[in-house]
Amino acid sequence: MQQTLLILGASGDLAGRLLLPGLGGLLAGGGVKDLLLVGGGRHSWDDNRWRKQVADSFAAVDAGGRQVDAVLNGARYLEADITVEGDLRRLLDARQGRLVIFFALPPAVAVQACRVLAGIGLPDGTRLVMEKPFGTDAASAAALNDLLARLVPEDQVYRVDHYLGMATVLNILGLRFANRMLESVLNAEHVQSVDIVFDESLALEGRAGYYDRAGALVDMIQSHSLQVLALLAMEAPSTLEARDVRDSKALVLRATRVWDDDPATWSRRARYAAGQVDGRRLPSYVDEDGVDPDRRTETFAEVVLAVNTWRWARVPFRVRAGKALPALRKEAVVTFKQPPWVPTGLTGYDRPDQLRIGFAPDRLSLDVNINGPADPSVLDRMTLKAAFGPGQLPPYGEVLRGVFEGDPTLSVRGDTAVECWRIVEPVLEAWRQDEVPLQEYPAGSTGPGDWPLPRRQGS
Ligand code: NDP
Repeated sequence: MQQTLLILGASGDLAGRLLLPGLGGLLAGGGVKDLLLVGGGRHSWDDNRWRKQVADSFAAVDAGGRQVDAVLNGARYLEADITVEGDLRRLLDARQGRLVIFFALPPAVAVQACRVLAGIGLPDGTRLVMEKPFGTDAASAAALNDLLARLVPEDQVYRVDHYLGMATVLNILGLRFANRMLESVLNAEHVQSVDIVFDESLALEGRAGYYDRAGALVDMIQSHSLQVLALLAMEAPSTLEARDVRDSKALVLRATRVWDDDPATWSRRARYAAGQVDGRRLPSYVDEDGVDPDRRTETFAEVVLAVNTWRWARVPFRVRAGKALPALRKEAVVTFKQPPWVPTGLTGYDRPDQLRIGFAPDRLSLDVNINGPADPSVLDRMTLKAAFGPGQLPPYGEVLRGVFEGDPTLSVRGDTAVECWRIVEPVLEAWRQDEVPLQEYPAGSTGPGDWPLPRRQGS
């Protein structure tokens, strides 16, 4: 079936750097055929200038072949102010076949565009792809859901979380639910704590306009980290169909809240001061271009969450995200409880076993205590490692594949988007009230220091 991908905000950063390369990868792999690509944006480009942009983005992922050339040569660009009805109508008129609209726009502009589209109406079957952040709090996310519901049915709305590609989701589900050995110990009886870490060595990278209004909590934890938490903590779905997977995720997120409902104690925030990362000198966050120090935006956020179910009662889930840290570290770490008794005569026990699930690249490691090579009565730490198969597509290639194929498994359902705001809102409020100090850490350091987890009975 012929489809049209209409990118609103075609000349922007997301479109050029992530979305078009993802499309290139998808086309090169034969993942979509018969596609018309239409770009709409404020730059006064013509078709040829747009095609150059598309060609450059495709080249970045070495995308080539018949489908790639066909889309490139047929690509059209229309200069448009997306908030103006006449301009949007012209863009809609350019479509052939089923329409997919990708809102690669600043979030407030995307909402304005949806309002105008609600007045125009959309062709049947149109699919809408919304970027994060989806709303700015639970109420605005719910209002945006209502607005979208006036445009298309919920199963035609795709809320993007591009950090979780299909391969990663399937790897977690496969690991958990196709192995009796691990799944049977992933519960409050055996697990001491779970950490979900998203550290990056990158700093602001010129994105102050967006990031200074979002911060680490909204940029990463409210979206990406909670999706990872849901996959790690959810009950087994009966099938991998989108409805089953998304129902299981929704259920566990509804059970999730800040530890002891006490965000003043169980959240912390910090921003980086001048320092050095990967041999590069970085200025303080507040001295970066476009940053308003009075916003007191955090570049590091950490929250302890509780998942109030039988399986996870009183197991702390500590989620954290930060910029300008020493290295990229994207992983979930399950720390098991200590064994009830280490036999007298075995010495050197100092740490419990840990399961580490690394994301992008996806890998798995299990840190266990075994008898050392020298004196067999002295325990040593050993790591068993495995690499998962890599995803075949760039992250946005996976996002687009789901949209073109009508498979919403990877997208965040409307109720879940609201739920994720509900979870972080008490933290945002405590920070607004200044109940949590804004700490500082030198860029390139490991952040604002250790943070002990809640003490649990019996551990
Ligand atoms: P930009 O700020 O670069 O804006 C995207 C484009 O929208 C720009 O080309 C801009 O045009 C255009 N635009 C703004 N207003 C209008 C209008 N009224 N009519 C037509 N075009 C308009 O944003 P990004 O590309 O960085 O991000 C887009 C979305 O993707 C955001 O929701 C962001 O949160 C999300 N996102 C971005 C990521 C990234 O790495 N960039 C990563 C993950 C998500 P002009 O240049 O003329 O202002």
